[in-house]
Amino acid sequence: MAECFYCGTDEKLTRAHLFQQRIREAIPNESEEVTIARTSVKSGGIERNLLFPGDVRETHVKNLCTQCNSRWMEPIEQAAGPILESIMQGGGFPPRSDLFRLAHWFTIVAALATQTSGQFDVPVEHRRAIRFTRTGQPLDFGTHFILTADTYPGTQFDFMRFEIGQDAKEPAVSWFCALHVGPLVMISGEFTVNTMIGRELHQSRFQSYLSTASSNLLYIPHAIRTGQWKSTGGLLVQPSHHETQEMYRTVAGRDVKYVDTHGGPLVSMDERTWFHPEGFDMGEGLVDARASLDLSYLDGVFES
Ligand SMILES: [Zn+2]
Repeated sequence: MAECFYCGTDEKLTRAHLFQQRIREAIPNESEEVTIARTSVKSGGIERNLLFPGDVRETHVKNLCTQCNSRWMEPIEQAAGPILESIMQGGGFPPRSDLFRLAHWFTIVAALATQTSGQFDVPVEHRRAIRFTRTGQPLDFGTHFILTADTYPGTQFDFMRFEIGQDAKEPAVSWFCALHVGPLVMISGEFTVNTMIGRELHQSRFQSYLSTASSNLLYIPHAIRTGQWKSTGGLLVQPSHHETQEMYRTVAGRDVKYVDTHGGPLVSMDERTWFHPEGFDMGEGLVDARASLDLSYLDGVFES
């Protein structure tokens, strides 16, 4: 018996794939090098005992109860599978309702993925918010979707955890988890850090992204919103996977040194203390997508 990561029930926990079968089949992984690793500012380098060598698609977690694994996650995974498959096949951005479904799924997997590499502490209130939200992506979370210029032949995670100002009025923890896969980077995170990544994206030259914030807000960058990209030959400015990683890692600050992994695997940094996280107003790029949401995939999920 142990405590379920998401609902907290003290039950026998099940062993489950991090990725459901259809998703495993849809995503590539040519590399069997390191797929999940963790570096730490404290330790000053990669924690070797936390490397996950092998095929990330075969990653298992054993911290969910049967109810969370089957009754709750499965319908959400089934809803997300075909959407991710279409993006992997070059289908581009899905319709809004699908984007929010995918955001919901990835918020769940993002928090779960952090648990594969040691003691990455996702606050209990975040886990419960993700578990018991009935609105799709939970209110205090967001997901960025970036279509990249290059295709990443593997499936890799990168996550960071931030402790916000121990001496601040309200000390808090924020975190994000990014997944690089094929032509896509997805980054899900708690509100504070997610907003900061939103600001970095806004200030970047990238045009090929959409962000879901909360359960119903969609951020559309200027070039897509105004149709401006069509007049430039129909090509959005797309970053590479590497440029995307540099973008989101900027939120950790300029004084942070990353461990050079020599071009191969992506690594993550687990802790950072922030004293003055800056806010960002997404302004006119933010639209209410409530009318396009379709939450029918959650029918029956919350009935006991
Ligand atoms: Zn549970």
